[in-house]
Amino acid sequence: MARSKEFDHGGLKRLVIVSNRLPVALAKREDGSWEIRRSTGGLVTALAPIFRRMGGLWIGWSGTFEDVNLDELMPLNDKDISQVSFRAVPLTEEEVNQYYLGFSNETIWPLFHDMHSRCKFEPESWHIYQEVNRKFAHAVEKSSDENDCIWVHDYHLMLVARELRAMNVKRRVVFFLHTPFPPLDIFIKLPWRVQVIRALLEYDLVGFQTMRDRNNFIDCVEHFSSGSHLDARRRVAVITTPQREIRTGIFPISIDFDEFSLQAGDEAVTEKVVQMHQSMPGCQVILGVDRLDYSKGIPLRLRAFKNALERFSDLRRRVTLVEIVVPSRENIQEYQKLKANIEGLVSEINGEFAEVGWNPVQYMFRAQERIDLLAYYRAASIALITPLKDGMNLVAKEYCAANIEENGVLILSEFAGAAIQLHRNPLLVNPYDIEGVSSAIYRAYNMDMDERKARMRRLRNAIRRRDIFWWVDSFLNTVAMCKQGDTTTQP
Ligand code: UDP
Repeated sequence: MARSKEFDHGGLKRLVIVSNRLPVALAKREDGSWEIRRSTGGLVTALAPIFRRMGGLWIGWSGTFEDVNLDELMPLNDKDISQVSFRAVPLTEEEVNQYYLGFSNETIWPLFHDMHSRCKFEPESWHIYQEVNRKFAHAVEKSSDENDCIWVHDYHLMLVARELRAMNVKRRVVFFLHTPFPPLDIFIKLPWRVQVIRALLEYDLVGFQTMRDRNNFIDCVEHFSSGSHLDARRRVAVITTPQREIRTGIFPISIDFDEFSLQAGDEAVTEKVVQMHQSMPGCQVILGVDRLDYSKGIPLRLRAFKNALERFSDLRRRVTLVEIVVPSRENIQEYQKLKANIEGLVSEINGEFAEVGWNPVQYMFRAQERIDLLAYYRAASIALITPLKDGMNLVAKEYCAANIEENGVLILSEFAGAAIQLHRNPLLVNPYDIEGVSSAIYRAYNMDMDERKARMRRLRNAIRRRDIFWWVDSFLNTVAMCKQGDTTTQP
């Protein structure tokens, strides 16, 4: 398949990306003026070659409630996105509370991660979610035309195509879900399940991370959308409704492998790796890196690590768990409780096992600079990545890309999308099985160099082959196969 640099865009003229947030961070200076920076994230990097070729527009919330004129702050001094224009969708505090914190993150997020007991089903949040999706659709309608391809991202914006169709907009509108899609018996609990499934069927293409998610979606379509016909014989399945043909496929998201691998070899990173090893002499570093989120399984992981120290006493003084937790959604109460739970477990383990010169858990609650993150990836002999459910988990892929010595072991939850893609080469674990994870830690610790290298080489090759550019290309090449807008085909 063509790489983005020579991407054959099959008639697409311009790409319009629609996501909850614009890929920029705004900060107010002391004099009241605004500073604008590109925010980090693989998606922007991956889209840069496409933007350079086709031009692009990005529609999303700016992250501030103040009225900021983005045009005045442009162009950004950043070659990757200098070809993109931005359109901010203004949101009020009430809208962010109900649409983003409420419906998106307290209803859909837990539901799509199979944790329906954590879900709040508030009608008011659903109403405002619909209104905000309508607002985004209006912004799309105003700033695009029928030559554009509208690519909507993620669970915050599942209704944008529905709202566009209601305005009789016949543009090509496609969607990618970054989170998992839940099985029917969980999805069915959503009071607005029929509306959501029907809204997704207003897109021309719906992309998922894994076959698991795509099959779950198809089950829900078959259950809730009588009158639709499915043809799943090819890689990209086709659902035909009385209104349109919808394609649905599997596009496992990835990283810029070459960039991670190259940067991991920088002199500055190498110096930090040496310092890290000197500060933990004779210890294998076990690394966990997660956003603060209950889906990441951090408390169970800490309990598994504790169990390993209890059962395998030769691990004591020989391993250190570096647990990096990146603050996230801290204004939701569940997340504050989770943080307290993690911190309690860290001090329990350190309290029980620490000795002079050795702390079993080194815990950090802050985002890391890229150079430090790369150094931790490289210094770690074992990555312990045990989400209870995860759309993909990019940390797993970044760890392998940065592991340029090819001597690390990836322990990975079987419920991460990455496990479905990378299957045999990580040590796969069930994150709920504390003794199983603890045994995997011991097995990784004792794994000989030949096996480590063979596994890591295969992992790196698989990730290199299907990097973020492959992901964008395979998605957009499938978009090029879609008929535009409303096709009114009959089954
Ligand atoms: N990350 C970061 N700073 C940190 C730690 C992690 O920017 O201090 C990034 C990491 O490089 C990765 C992302 O956060 O790209 C986490 O992505 P993942 O898919 O693993 O989980 P998500 O947070 O999207 O659920």
